[in-house]
Amino acid sequence: MRDNHSAAEKIKEISGTNPLKCMKCGKCSATCPSFDEMDIRPHQFVSYVISENIEALVNSASLWKCLSCFACVERCPRDVKPGKIIDGARQLVVREKGGDYLSPNEIPELLDPELPQQLLVSAFRRYRR
Ligand code: SF4
Ligand code: SF4
Repeated sequence: MRDNHSAAEKIKEISGTNPLKCMKCGKCSATCPSFDEMDIRPHQFVSYVISENIEALVNSASLWKCLSCFACVERCPRDVKPGKIIDGARQLVVREKGGDYLSPNEIPELLDPELPQQLLVSAFRRYRR
């Protein structure tokens, strides 16, 4: 059984955001390219974390519909970063399933030489926190 308070704190920790700064202007949702496919819209996602309604979040389609384009992050006048909050919830689910951390020896020896190094750096930053 998930502790909703701890889970909400974990999402905030992973995302490095403060949902309480949200003023519910809706600009994040208005700019989201996945808006029509989301059952919990970006601005609502922020409110759900505040109210610690974590079960609804982790079972929402939105978790997997977010493109991580971060248009909402750019648009938010309060620096709330809703896209990072959604990503934080996604990471919470991934970690609960055991897909936790990425270690260097998991990187295959024969990497595609065309693979951008930025991708690896990004993966480490995402999975090492
Ligand atoms: S990061 Fe996700 S929630 Fe934010 S605008 Fe892009 S698709 Fe929408
Ligand atoms: S744009 Fe920022 S302040 Fe406005 S509703 Fe979205 S998260 Fe809240």
